[in-house]
Amino acid sequence: MKVLIADDDQISRMITKAAVEQSGHECIVAVDGDSAWQLYQEHSPEAVVTDLMMPGLNGLDLCRAIRAAEEDTYTYIILVTSHGSRKDVLAGMEAGADDYVTKPLDPFSLHIRLLAAQRITSLHADLARYRSALTEQARTDPLTKLNNRLKLTEDLGQLHSREDHDYCLAMVDVDNFKSYNDIYGHQAGDAALVAIATTLAREVRKADAVYRFGGEEFLLVLQDQSAATAGLVMERVRSAVHDLRIEHSGDPDGVLTISAGVSAFTDGHRAGTEQLLREADLALYAAKASGRNRVTLASALSPE
Ligand code: GH3
Ligand code: MG
Ligand code: MG
Repeated sequence: MKVLIADDDQISRMITKAAVEQSGHECIVAVDGDSAWQLYQEHSPEAVVTDLMMPGLNGLDLCRAIRAAEEDTYTYIILVTSHGSRKDVLAGMEAGADDYVTKPLDPFSLHIRLLAAQRITSLHADLARYRSALTEQARTDPLTKLNNRLKLTEDLGQLHSREDHDYCLAMVDVDNFKSYNDIYGHQAGDAALVAIATTLAREVRKADAVYRFGGEEFLLVLQDQSAATAGLVMERVRSAVHDLRIEHSGDPDGVLTISAGVSAFTDGHRAGTEQLLREADLALYAAKASGRNRVTLASALSPE
């Protein structure tokens, strides 16, 4: 473990450092509370062994600062009290310390506490990893591995908070997909969806995002595009799906194709995300109505 030691007394500091190193840990040493806080932020140590009374930031302040700053990590804090007064120990534990040792320091007492520290911090690290994996999994579509609807909702909220930033939404739907399932079976349908999803993700820029909106529908968020340039991007995407040449005898083209509707968040049209989704959906509906395997811009639709 990386262990941060904070003590304003040079002799105590040397004794603690020797004990921590003897226990097999790496040491970072601070001469007072303020520099301990600096070093904590720089090095993110797994454990802190801190004196209670120090000039500037004292041991209790340091405990509170560490607890307030922690997000996914957990720092095991051991307080060093001069006389082990119950009042000091209680104040330390309430401020966020996990355990305490008394001066003069007994290396064995510190050693066994660092064993506990190691176990607790490694448990917390495991938890943080599981939490992050679950967060990721909850936002991923299991079939296509694309972002799912939950991630879309979160990302659209973020996008909308950046008022003056242009982007386009493209709603994509696979053409005649029900008959594809009927002819080739549901498993082949799943494989086709994966192939199409992979193609969509490959054809857009890194800053763009592709979501499985539901069933055989996808949503693309295209950054820094006007309706016209997003239309060109989607034309390239449509053509790339056509070029996969996934045989579909129930489609007039003989292969699986997609249709797309594009709406734009640009100067003169700073609509809300719900409105933009509706516009992209209406444009998609128009693309379907005019023959499928095509891209339609919402801005090109005549107002009702
Ligand atoms: P259109 O060109 O108008 O879009 O016709 P369509 O047949 O694609 O439209 P419809 O909405 O009637 O059919 C969508 C089909 O997509 C029906 C459903 O079974 C299929 N589908 C949705 N999700 C999945 C999936 O995860 N796997 C498979 N294999 N099929 C799916
Ligand atoms: Mg469809
Ligand atoms: Mg559909």
